[in-house]
Amino acid sequence: MDLCALGHLATTSQLRSLGWTRARLEAAPLVRVRRGVYACAHLSGPLRVAAAMGAALTCTSILSESEVWSGHDHRPHLQVRPTASVQPGRTQLHWELPRFGMDTQWRASRLQALWQAMECLPVEDAIAAMESAIKKEFLTEAEVRRLGMHAPRRLQRYVPQLINNSGSGNETIVRMRLLDAGYSVVPQGPLPGAGHQDLVIEDIAGLEVDSARWHGEQIRAIDYERDLVSEGLGRPVLRILPAHVHSSWPHTLAVIDRMVRDARRRR
Ligand SMILES: [Zn+2]
Ligand SMILES: [Zn+2]
Repeated sequence: MDLCALGHLATTSQLRSLGWTRARLEAAPLVRVRRGVYACAHLSGPLRVAAAMGAALTCTSILSESEVWSGHDHRPHLQVRPTASVQPGRTQLHWELPRFGMDTQWRASRLQALWQAMECLPVEDAIAAMESAIKKEFLTEAEVRRLGMHAPRRLQRYVPQLINNSGSGNETIVRMRLLDAGYSVVPQGPLPGAGHQDLVIEDIAGLEVDSARWHGEQIRAIDYERDLVSEGLGRPVLRILPAHVHSSWPHTLAVIDRMVRDARRRR
């Protein structure tokens, strides 16, 4: 159907220009979400919320569709014109004119969405979103670095440290914190004969930042094997979950400090 190809939304005049008659409009499985705006009946979720409010989907709402790191606020993030008078309700509104283009009038471009998220998210989440956007091929590395040149001041000291191979948003956040703590950290550090570890600290300790989603109850056999190789080479390894990053970081860092200290002493 025409409307799916258009992104599931169209104005009455767009539909007319595609040759839709009033009769066809009335017979089609469309819903009027707002005066002069029609949506596919199957459209639900934040894009429909945006259209109904006369807004556009942007920021973390577009990142999360592609499983790019988007922090912890799951409300729809919507762009509205600077002069619009809209009540946010259960959404986060951004009163902005797009700087990096729109895909449709209801949807910011990927560049615009990431730029908006860099403005919106806390520092760690913003940098994690940038690295995740590269890793998930949401944007190219060159595009993300170009946005980095427009980064708000609070992000600028991290932009030169951006890497293209961070395994996850949590891994980025842990790496930033370890660098801030004064450690040297190699992301995706090689482990001779057994691939690589998420983060190798001071060349003497390994840190695996697991996601609850992939691991949970079942740590994969390959992870056991890698840990065994690491310990066998005299490189102690610690395996942590998101809760250790977001709920009990001071304790986690204290354990890492001790692991690194002990490993140094044994050298
Ligand atoms: Zn559709
Ligand atoms: Zn936002």
